[in-house]
Amino acid sequence: MGRKVIDTPIRGTGCVLLIEDDPAETESLSFILKGAGYRVLTAPGVNETHELIRQYAREIDGIILDIELTDSLDDGYDLCVALREPHSVTAHIPVVVVSAHSTRENVDRSYSAGAFQHIRKPFQIDSLLAVIGSMIRMKKAQDQVRHSEEALRAIFNALPVGIFILGPDHVVTQFNPALVRSFPHIRMTPGAKEYEAFYDPPRTAPLANHPAYGALATREPQSAVMEVLVSGRKQWWDISAAPNFDIDGNLLNVVVMIRDVTRDRELAQQLKEEIAHARRAEEQARIETKRHKATLARQDEFADNLMNTQRDLRKKSEELEQANRLLADMNFKLERLSTIDELTQLSNRRHFQEIFPREVHRAMRYHHHISVLMMDIDHFKNINDRYLHQAGDEVLRLIGRVLTGQLRETDFVARYGGEEFVALLPETPEAEAHRIAERIRAAVEQSRCRYGEHDLQVTISIGFTTAHGEMTDPDILISDADSALYKAKQLGRNRVISFREL
Ligand code: GH3
Ligand code: MG
Ligand code: MG
Repeated sequence: MGRKVIDTPIRGTGCVLLIEDDPAETESLSFILKGAGYRVLTAPGVNETHELIRQYAREIDGIILDIELTDSLDDGYDLCVALREPHSVTAHIPVVVVSAHSTRENVDRSYSAGAFQHIRKPFQIDSLLAVIGSMIRMKKAQDQVRHSEEALRAIFNALPVGIFILGPDHVVTQFNPALVRSFPHIRMTPGAKEYEAFYDPPRTAPLANHPAYGALATREPQSAVMEVLVSGRKQWWDISAAPNFDIDGNLLNVVVMIRDVTRDRELAQQLKEEIAHARRAEEQARIETKRHKATLARQDEFADNLMNTQRDLRKKSEELEQANRLLADMNFKLERLSTIDELTQLSNRRHFQEIFPREVHRAMRYHHHISVLMMDIDHFKNINDRYLHQAGDEVLRLIGRVLTGQLRETDFVARYGGEEFVALLPETPEAEAHRIAERIRAAVEQSRCRYGEHDLQVTISIGFTTAHGEMTDPDILISDADSALYKAKQLGRNRVISFREL
């Protein structure tokens, strides 16, 4: 370019918008600024300025504005005012006004229009660069503050806890969306008195025990869970209020956080009730188990007792049965001992004497015949004498067998004495009795019994009598039969004699 590069001790960084209608000035200033390290955008007029701002507003760090853009200074100042307008995108970009018409009035006008600095033309390059340097540093510092403020605000707005900020004059200055979201019933108007903020409908006086009020009054952090009635429903709000001070210790504001803990409270209450319920159920179950165990133990005991009793009963009944068997056996033996002749197994004399009168009387009552046979072994003494007493016993047994074999079921036979036998034949007339007696006699005569190597053989004498109809003394019947027997012995033995033949 052939231009001399100007060395300057102040080298800046950043982007400068140069608004200048004179091309020569524009070129010369651009050259200087670029030489100092700045990026330079140039606009010759108002329209071009707006165009560049639309594109580069976020990148521009400072503006140099030649106030004599047109014939009228008004145009330049209007542009300056517009650039500094608080709500414009350039509000945060400082403007340095340069002017060849630097009257006192114009300088004031520059500052009134929001200029950072008013620089007269012609200017010293060094002082111009110094001004631009400090302007851009200031702008960057302001940007930083603004960014951190924005970040803080973003956090404030994004916090899920309801927050509002209360000035020392009890007036709400800020509140976050969460507060409005969570507590739509809170009347939230910046500038509202704090008690209007707390209650809807607002109360007429601040509540002394509200932590926000307390923090304002005491300059100490305060917190409380407050019971609030909202649309007739009880709610609990956990409210914390923390005072903020400036570096001189003056109270700036109180930050108040509100959290609706109704649900927490309800859950806690519910949990408490559930735990209490569970405890009661557990206790109940414990009691039931104990009771059940006791019942089981009682049942076990009962079952044991029952089993023992049953066992005892079984044992007792077995013992009883055994005793009964023993008794029956003994009775049977006793019975036999008292009615049976051990040797011949016929009835004994005692038994005969029991039976005999009964049978005689019955026969008489029904007019039946009844016959009585008396039998005596012939010369029995000889058997005993010739052999031994046991041989006699064998013969007695043989006679027992013969008599049992020859007589009928209905007849009754007994051993009457040593070798004497008696037979009672109910419903037997004399002829029949004679026949039976004869049969017995013959059977005895033909019978043998063994004794050692001997065949023993005996005969028997029989006397008998028959009664029919008339009342007869049983003893007389015996004696009559005995008489007949005696006769049989007399007549030579081994014979049958009827009493009627005597
Ligand atoms: P008779 O023909 O006149 O009857 O003569 P006998 O010898 O049979 O009569 P006697 O009355 O003289 O004798 C009966 C004998 O019977 C006497 C006795 O020793 C015997 N005697 C009685 N009872 C028993 C007994 O149970 N066993 C034995 N072996 N002998 C008996
Ligand atoms: Mg005899
Ligand atoms: Mg005899």
